[in-house]
Amino acid sequence: MEKNFFYNKLKEVLTESEVKRNEPMSLHTTFKIGGKADYFVKPKTMEHLVYAIKCCKENDIPYYIIGNGSNLLVSDKGYRGAIIQIYKNFNQVEINGCRVRAQAGILLSRLARLIMEAGLEGFEFASGIPGTLGGAVFMNAGAYGGEMKDVVEAITVITHQGDLIELPKEALELDYRSSILQKEDYVAVSIDLIFKEGCKKIIKSRIAELDDLRRLKQPIEKPSAGSAFKRPEGHYASKLIMEAGLKGYSIGGAQVSEKHCGFIVNKGDATAKDVIMLMEHIKNTVKEKFGVELEEEIKLLGEE
Ligand SMILES: Cc1cc2nc3c(=O)[nH]c(=O)nc-3n(C[C@H](O)[C@H](O)[C@H](O)COP(=O)(O)OP(=O)(O)OC[C@H]3O[C@@H](n4cnc5c(N)ncnc54)[C@H](O)[C@@H]3O)c2cc1C
Repeated sequence: MEKNFFYNKLKEVLTESEVKRNEPMSLHTTFKIGGKADYFVKPKTMEHLVYAIKCCKENDIPYYIIGNGSNLLVSDKGYRGAIIQIYKNFNQVEINGCRVRAQAGILLSRLARLIMEAGLEGFEFASGIPGTLGGAVFMNAGAYGGEMKDVVEAITVITHQGDLIELPKEALELDYRSSILQKEDYVAVSIDLIFKEGCKKIIKSRIAELDDLRRLKQPIEKPSAGSAFKRPEGHYASKLIMEAGLKGYSIGGAQVSEKHCGFIVNKGDATAKDVIMLMEHIKNTVKEKFGVELEEEIKLLGEE
């Protein structure tokens, strides 16, 4: 009864295609794992996004923002609340000299191409990360010596009260795989970035080189959520896992990648429980053998 009330409240403003019920999260995560979310909301406009958030707050419905779900493990039991997906509908980009303002839902690969086309350098590192710009700021995503911290100038967020405010770089607390967004209940909607002028041909070949390297070193052909663990101080998680003898080790359908031990891959029928049990096993084995505590990089959502 109460659930219908919330659904109807959403539908007072959002259209049929913007709200689904009982949506399998395996369809919206790169791991291809996850049970059903009670509500799956995909707002088409900023007004609808703000409305959806306010509606959740006013009706005490928990909500969780996702981008492309490429750093996410959702429980087999799904999520009791509303998943609000930013990916796809929020993808506008304005380029002004060396400055770029982009909406949070754009994929990094597409944005990297546009930035390259504009002859700007400094975003090549992000072109192969399969997430959205919002998710990348949340995680301070990085690769091959670059990270979001190097290029972000400011972000615009929706606050707890549903207001839009701009946060300058100094307020973002961008650090290794962490940002203010992980502490505050903010939703990133637009990001200001800065680059240097460069040579389009060189930028293009750098992107191709990094893409090749990724294809060679990472199991990108299998479902995963990227590196399962953060890099521990003074070590590499993948090296520790390999040296612990866990290369290829499986629990159920979850496996330590044979190509890159930092990745856990879904062999096809993995459950979230398989992945969590495998992560626990890896953590315990690495701790026992090397005395190093591994910390998850992947975000876990829902009860398990
Ligand atoms: C094959 C593969 C390779 C990868 N390689 C890398 C790599 O080289 N470097 C790296 O850093 N990561 C890598 N990742 C992990 C992942 O792609 C990044 O963390 C990415 O930035 C996540 O973006 P997303 O849009 O998919 O976020 P999601 O997975 O959807 O969400 C991740 C977190 O961000 C939050 N979030 C998402 N969007 C917003 C928003 N607009 N406002 C507020 N919070 C938000 C979510 O609530 C969640 O907690 C890889 C993943 C895969 C599958």
